[in-house]
Amino acid sequence: MFDLLKTDTSSLARLGRLTTAHGVVQTPVFMPVGTQASVKALDPRELDEMGTEILLGNTYHLHIRPGLDIISEAGGLHQFMNWHKPILTDSGGFQVFSLAKIRKIKPHGVEFRSHLDGSLLFLGPKESMEIQRVLGSDIAMVFDDCPPHTATPREVRGAVERTLRWAAECREQPRAKGQLVFGIVQGGSHAELREECARALTAMKFDGYAVGGVSVGEPEPEMMKAVEYAVPFLPENQPRYAMGLGTPAQLVELVARGVDMFDCVLPTRVARNGTAYTRKGTISLKGGAYKRDWGPIEEGCDCFACQRFTRAYLRHLLNVNEILGLRMVSVHNSHLFLRVMADMRQHLAAGTFGEFRREFIAGYRPSRKVLAARQCTQPPVDEAG
Ligand SMILES: [Zn+2]
Repeated sequence: MFDLLKTDTSSLARLGRLTTAHGVVQTPVFMPVGTQASVKALDPRELDEMGTEILLGNTYHLHIRPGLDIISEAGGLHQFMNWHKPILTDSGGFQVFSLAKIRKIKPHGVEFRSHLDGSLLFLGPKESMEIQRVLGSDIAMVFDDCPPHTATPREVRGAVERTLRWAAECREQPRAKGQLVFGIVQGGSHAELREECARALTAMKFDGYAVGGVSVGEPEPEMMKAVEYAVPFLPENQPRYAMGLGTPAQLVELVARGVDMFDCVLPTRVARNGTAYTRKGTISLKGGAYKRDWGPIEEGCDCFACQRFTRAYLRHLLNVNEILGLRMVSVHNSHLFLRVMADMRQHLAAGTFGEFRREFIAGYRPSRKVLAARQCTQPPVDEAG
């Protein structure tokens, strides 16, 4: 199911190949997020052209709308959205704990009110796995308890215990034909809880393992630690997935920490505000600086948007709210994320990942928020040295 093709000599980075019911995925891989059975602003032809190998769909959202009966009648999620490459579905745990109004956490799941119309719903391991079976995703995730970044150590421990109990329950549920199931490591930024959770899940023998409870508002150093605490206890010969991450520079650093799979809404979400990712950091295309900028979003980029349009034109579209503007920035951003992953795979194959990582990180200017979070935990170089 997962072939580990090569391991980097300078880091924990790996080159691999994941075989699913709808085809093979080369890792490390970025999965564009199609929460509502569509990657926002992009059509499947564009996703194909930019080299998308696997998409992410969401149990919570698809269960609420259009509802399982409709997707089942269509013949499953692949048929419904007419996407015939692999799909991974998130279990809904993250959404229940972040979007919905929780009424009660019960032994076998969570009673909550829909974020949409307030209707009373119940989702637990059994329900989540049944929805994912009907969706027919290639990879299903276990239903987990994802506590916020502000949770107390005691709450995080409770979430780990519940996650393990629910993982065992998920393990026993019926699956779609050929469907793989991944466990999710919780434990916040507590080394001992991450280890305990990873060891217990590994003993249950899932097809792959995710690091969850990241991308919940924690500063970057804590996110890196959460991954570092979990990875040493996950099997070498199975895929590892960091959920909901990250910026291009974070993807490079997480691959170097032994992660194989990623999903993130950033490329399409920030595009809708006119923010473009480049290999040097982000730029806000709505700014006056681009009024007469006749270059592409990023010099050297071979995406459709950069081949065709200038920054000045895209800035104009964004400022007058033309749909083409946000579509083209979404094309560029998603293309960039996929291209950075492809570059990493190429450098891993060639044995030059270490050089690539150094150059990429040196050239990338993180956002002010990321920099501020780093400075909280790491003394500036001149003070330390
Ligand atoms: Zn581009």
